Amino acid sequence: MMVTDLLPTDEVLDLRARVRSFMEEHVYPAEPVLAREDDESDALVERLRALVKEQGLWAPHLPPEAGGSNGSFLVYAHLNEEIGRSLWAQLVFGCQAPDAGNAEILWHFGTDDQKERWLRPLAAGAARSFFSMTEPEVSGSDPTGLRTRAVRDGEEWVIDGHKWFSSGAEGAAFGIVMAVTDPEAPPHGRASQIIVPADTPGLEIVRAVPTMGHRGRGWTTHCEVRYTGVRVPVANTLGGVGEGFRIAQKRLGPGRIHHVMRWLGQMQRAFELMCSYAVERQAFGGPLADKQTVQNWIADSAAEIQACRLLTLDAAHRLDQGDEARVEISLIKFYAARVLNDVIDRAVQVHGARGLTDETPLAAMLALARGARIYDGPDEVHRMVVARRILKEFAAGGTWRFA
Ligand SMILES: Cc1cc2nc3c(=O)[nH]c(=O)nc-3n(C[C@H](O)[C@H](O)[C@H](O)COP(=O)(O)OP(=O)(O)OC[C@H]3O[C@@H](n4cnc5c(N)ncnc54)[C@H](O)[C@@H]3O)c2cc1C
Repeated sequence: MMVTDLLPTDEVLDLRARVRSFMEEHVYPAEPVLAREDDESDALVERLRALVKEQGLWAPHLPPEAGGSNGSFLVYAHLNEEIGRSLWAQLVFGCQAPDAGNAEILWHFGTDDQKERWLRPLAAGAARSFFSMTEPEVSGSDPTGLRTRAVRDGEEWVIDGHKWFSSGAEGAAFGIVMAVTDPEAPPHGRASQIIVPADTPGLEIVRAVPTMGHRGRGWTTHCEVRYTGVRVPVANTLGGVGEGFRIAQKRLGPGRIHHVMRWLGQMQRAFELMCSYAVERQAFGGPLADKQTVQNWIADSAAEIQACRLLTLDAAHRLDQGDEARVEISLIKFYAARVLNDVIDRAVQVHGARGLTDETPLAAMLALARGARIYDGPDEVHRMVVARRILKEFAAGGTWRFA
């Protein structure tokens, strides 16, 4: 890979400029209303979504034939440096988690019927979905221990289990549920992914689990869900029976890089707020910008953000080339999650008490950033994946090439 391979073309620069204009004209001014998470903010999201569609910027994670406007990971990374700056913009642009990842697996693994029934409304923004894998009773880091069962009864699956952190389940039209379909199979062949309409009898959304003091509403909830004798057709199986882990890997790889792309926007926004305030705020006879500690934070943040950008663009480029980029994605997942938290935390610190108020977006950004080190696999697991893969090469007498 050459660094020049990662540069945006003129066409992408133009697209990015259009996304930036949209953010400046429509999204940043709307943030105070969007953050209220009430009926008025829902209506505003719908109005903004209509404008995004009109401007041809809708669903930039999906190719046009799947209902989106782009489809290249590298291009999406460049666009997300703008979209990711606002917590709400992913919803406005129709590329919000977990729907973006669900749309991708439906596009790659769904049958024609599944695409028509589930992908079409999802990609159009007419329906939301959830991904239901994690269970409170067992480690989410090691999903080979999942307990939710799907037992075949004729042409139906009967699902029984208990999940939590099914993000966005409140108000969603359907979920993709990871369930054990063959407990005797080798660990990574035991589970399947099954599409379950949210109104199926036996599916109960027990509660939205508050996180960091925030219950959320609709898309921003993390729900506890119970499945009791839930019956769905076997035709709702995504991919083949026993393919759950293989598809999860396909979903989580791109899903993780989508998160990291958005974090690039968050980091850069926090960085800009930190620098602007450091120049403006006076203490001990001069601006905060003159204090060496603050200068160190700014220098460290600049270096780390640029490292995250290049690592992310590199992984995106590899995905576009058909590489699974397992090491590169795990590497940015844990590294960028830490940088995200550090940069926002430094920006809050530079703002003093103001950093904890709602007068800047930093407090909300900080509260959401902490989860980045846990969701889609905690830091420790991604470090383990990176180290194991590199060490495997050395154990076989080889080496690790950074090229
Ligand atoms: C905001 C948010 C949204 C989420 N959304 C979804 C969703 O939509 N759908 C879904 O299914 N799940 C979702 N999750 C769940 C998430 O994927 C799991 O929380 C994650 O996989 C970790 O699982 P766990 O919480 O069970 O932690 P555990 O697996 O119990 O791990 C606990 C801790 O143990 C440590 N640990 C684990 N393994 C190792 C190791 N090998 N070496 C060293 N230390 C280790 C880590 O520090 C880890 O944080 C979400 C979580 C959050 C926070």
